[in-house]
Formats: sequence, structure tokens, C-alpha cells
Amino acid sequence: MDLEEYRRRARTWLEANVPDVPDGRAGQGGGAADPGGVAAAKEFMAKLYDAGYSGITWPAEWGGQGLTQAEERAFAAEAAAFTLPTYVFSIGLGMCGPTLVDLGTDAQRRRHIRPLLRGEEIWCQLFSEPAAGSDVAALQTRATATDGGWVVDGQKVWTSVAQHADRGLLLARTDVDVPKHRGLTMFIVDMHAPGVTVRPLRDMTGRAHFNEIFFDGVHIPAENVVGRVGDGWNCAVTTLLHERLSISSGVGMGGQKDNPVAFEALRRSADTADPVVRDRLVELHIRSRALALFNQRLAQETKAGIFPGARGSAAKLLLAELTMFQADLATSLAGPEAVAWSEDGTGDGPEGDAGTAGGGGLAHALALAPAMALGGGTNEIMRNIVSERVLNLPPEPRTDKNVPFKELRTSGEAPR
Ligand SMILES: Cc1cc2nc3c(=O)[nH]c(=O)nc-3n(C[C@H](O)[C@H](O)[C@H](O)COP(=O)(O)OP(=O)(O)OC[C@H]3O[C@@H](n4cnc5c(N)ncnc54)[C@H](O)[C@@H]3O)c2cc1C
Repeated sequence: MDLEEYRRRARTWLEANVPDVPDGRAGQGGGAADPGGVAAAKEFMAKLYDAGYSGITWPAEWGGQGLTQAEERAFAAEAAAFTLPTYVFSIGLGMCGPTLVDLGTDAQRRRHIRPLLRGEEIWCQLFSEPAAGSDVAALQTRATATDGGWVVDGQKVWTSVAQHADRGLLLARTDVDVPKHRGLTMFIVDMHAPGVTVRPLRDMTGRAHFNEIFFDGVHIPAENVVGRVGDGWNCAVTTLLHERLSISSGVGMGGQKDNPVAFEALRRSADTADPVVRDRLVELHIRSRALALFNQRLAQETKAGIFPGARGSAAKLLLAELTMFQADLATSLAGPEAVAWSEDGTGDGPEGDAGTAGGGGLAHALALAPAMALGGGTNEIMRNIVSERVLNLPPEPRTDKNVPFKELRTSGEAPR
């Protein structure tokens, strides 16, 4: 089928099938109180997959469509006009699935990719811990070898969409006698297994975007190791690369990137005569366009087998900065309306007619904006990565690089 025809069919399908809901981030943060949002999102995802629009460039042998970047871009261009309820799948589609495609065994890919793409199973990413956020290699969650597999004990935090997840990609320590980066292993974990406790954490938006997770003697079968035992850091780097690329390119975020409500408020203000406002709107447009082109280039290079490496961190940093620029601009344009709305949604807020239930859609989007500077790695960490690996500036001193993990203070094992 030629590209124009593909695009026309995609548009027709989207018009007929995208549900008319104001908030594409279905299920994000409602926790148990929002099962309807997740159920509807799953129903939509199944239809999207069956129509051939989920996993467009993923290998056909594992359940993808096996098409090219050209089709993916054509679909994304059409989807950008809609708000797709795909947020709850963003971790699976953007990080866990691509990691399994890259590093999983054939049995893992056969078992997991298709249900992931069809929205039958929701995935989360279990890396960060209370004492291991930016320094994720310092994590303390332990996986101990046992008959036929591993037993996991420990705690994770910041785990997006875990309250809805069926599977997780877990990073755990399997060896404390080697330096911190070398004693890690990646696992697929069943989030419904005995011993897994998920507690949603409410953030300043009033919703629970992420969770804390407790593992108490959770059994993981041996075949759920991803990559090699002890090679978890390299596996995690693969996941983090996909994470940064997917965040910066908006994979699974619902079509209109990051902040759809703030974007809409800006669009409505675009006919202003104020030259200063117009100047900032043009700057927003230019920065958005430049980032989109940068992402397109990275995606094309990735498909061509050229590893984008640390430039993925640059793209993620640019998006975090752009999101805050957009939030500041939206706030100055909306004035008090950015933070005031009526609970019944009838009105006062700028999105009272079209925002989230109960109004306050813009306020929610604004409160969410700073999270972009943390999730997927903080701006400071992104700058460190870019300075060392893209600009070749001198690296930070790393005194713990060659010290066995059990001798580090962060190990929780031996005070130094
Ligand atoms: C909305 C959201 C969703 C997330 N989802 C997930 C998820 O699904 N799964 C997951 O595993 N994690 C997730 N995270 C965690 C995220 O990826 C970051 O790793 C984490 O927020 C950073 O760790 P921390 O908050 O413990 O900060 P810390 O690491 O304690 O850092 C505190 C401050 O110190 C700065 N800092 C730390 N080290 C350095 C350094 N070497 N140089 C300069 N500055 C430094 C940081 O930039 C930060 O400002 C999420 C975070 C957010 C906000």
C-alpha cells in the first residue's frame, strides 16, 4: 500500500475508533478507583493492535507489524490530532517491550510481546529505589539463587503505572562481592505473584502516577532472567536508552506529546496581538519542531543500526526543558485561570469545558510538568551524561567504581 493510502486509512480508523474522552492518560493515577479508565484503555489497545497500528515497526515474528519508519511516522502524524488513551501502556511500549526485543530469549519474546502490544498485559519498570535513584547501580534489592530460580527481597519506588501492571522489568542485585555495576541482573517479574505489594503514591497533581513496591520472598523462575546473570547493568542501559528516546518522542503518551491541555491553551492564545507573547509562541514552535526532527533522526539511526547512545539523553533533556518553558508560558497566558476551576467541571478553568473531569485540566498539566525533569533521569544527570559522552569533558570522580558492593556504605551491609 502506498504511504498516502496508508495515512488516509489510518485517519479514517482513528476518526472512527478513538474514544471521545478529554484525558488520554486513561487510568493514570486513579489507582483502584479508576478501573473503568484502564478497562477502556485496554479495549482501545486491542482494537488498535487488531487494526495493525500497534507495534508498527516491531518484528513481525514476535507479533509486531514489521513495517518501516515511514509507516510509523505517517501513523504518528495522523494520531497527533487525537488523544489516544494509551498512557498506561507507555512503559511497556517505550521501554520493557523494546528491551525484550533487543535482549530477550525467543521464548520470552514469544510469550510477552504480543500481549504487550495488544494491551492485554500492562508493564512497569522496577529500577529506582529509595536510596538508588540517580545512582541506580547502588540498588539494594536482592535476588538470591534458589531451586529453579530466584527469590527477591527489597523495595522499589517511583514505579509508574505499577498499580495496574501485570509484569515488571526488575533490576536486582545478585552478587555483592563485585563492584556495584557488575553484580546486577535483570528479571521479568509477575506483579501478581505472592509477596509483591504495590502502594500508589499521590503526587502534587492529586493523582498517583507512581508507586512504591515491596518484594517479600518473591519467587522468579530461572527462565525469567533477561540477558545474562550479572549483566543487568548493560541490560538496564538498553532499557534507559529506550526510555529516553520514548519519553522525548512521546511514545505511548497519547498522541499529543506530553502536555496536551497546556498545548491547547497555547493554541487558543495564538491569535494574540501582543508581540512578546507571539515571540514566545514562535520560540515554542521552533523548539518543538527542532526536537521532533532530532527525535526523527535518532529513530532513523536506531533502525539503521546506529546506536544513538548519549544523544538520547540530550533529547530527553531538551524535552524536559521544553515542557517547563511551555508550562511557564501557559501559566502566564492563562493567569489565575491556570490554578482555579470549579469542582463540577462546568467552568471557570480554561479547560472547564474540555478538560479532565471536574475541570482543572490545565492545572493538572502544569503540576505534572516538573516531573519531566526527574522521570527517566534528572536534568542534572542528563547533563552529566551529555558532557562526558557527547562533549568528552572530564568525567565526575567515581571513588566506588572498583570497590566490591558489600564494602560500600550504600550497600546496607557493611558500614565503612
Ligand atoms: C514521574 C516519575 C516517574 C518515574 N517512573 C519511574 C519508573 O517507572 N521506574 C523507575 O525505576 N523509576 C522511575 N522514576 C525515577 C526516575 O527515573 C529518577 O531516577 C529518579 O526520580 C531520580 O532519583 P531520586 O528522585 O531518588 O533523586 P536523587 O538521585 O536522590 O537526586 C537528588 C538530586 O540530586 C541530583 N543529583 C544526583 N546525583 C547527581 C550527580 N551525580 N550530579 C549532579 N546532580 C546529581 C539530582 O539531579 C536531583 O536533583 C520516575 C520518576 C518520576 C518523577
